[in-house]
Amino acid sequence: MVFPGGFAVVFLGDSALVFLHIRRMKVTRREIVRNLSLAAGLSAALPWDRARGVQPARLDVKDPAAVAVGYVENAGQVDIKKYPAYVKGSNCENCLQLQGSAGNNYRPCGIFPGKLVSVSGWCTAWTPEM
Ligand code: SF4
Repeated sequence: MVFPGGFAVVFLGDSALVFLHIRRMKVTRREIVRNLSLAAGLSAALPWDRARGVQPARLDVKDPAAVAVGYVENAGQVDIKKYPAYVKGSNCENCLQLQGSAGNNYRPCGIFPGKLVSVSGWCTAWTPEM
């Protein structure tokens, strides 16, 4: 999206929001492609929170999407009668869907885009790491 004054906003998935300044009528297609490539590289190099300057919200256990998959912030709270497929010892930290950097107590999850889940949590989408 290009705004008056030649400022362009580029959305790169959930990972970043990039602002580019493009002078009208003096920009070649090659320059735009090069700038977008640089922006994409910058976006990939920076964690989403730094690129946006905003920390994503933690997933609320009462969020309908969380409720739908039985998400809890502490795997020790899993109702085993309700979820008999629960594997003892399973939690977000050893789930294939967990993203982000080790060492953070709340990290992104592939099942809940734009939200952070507790590394001690669990849901029915738990998938063992390979
Ligand atoms: Fe945790 Fe995995 Fe469920 Fe995401 S999919 S909330 S990481 S158990």
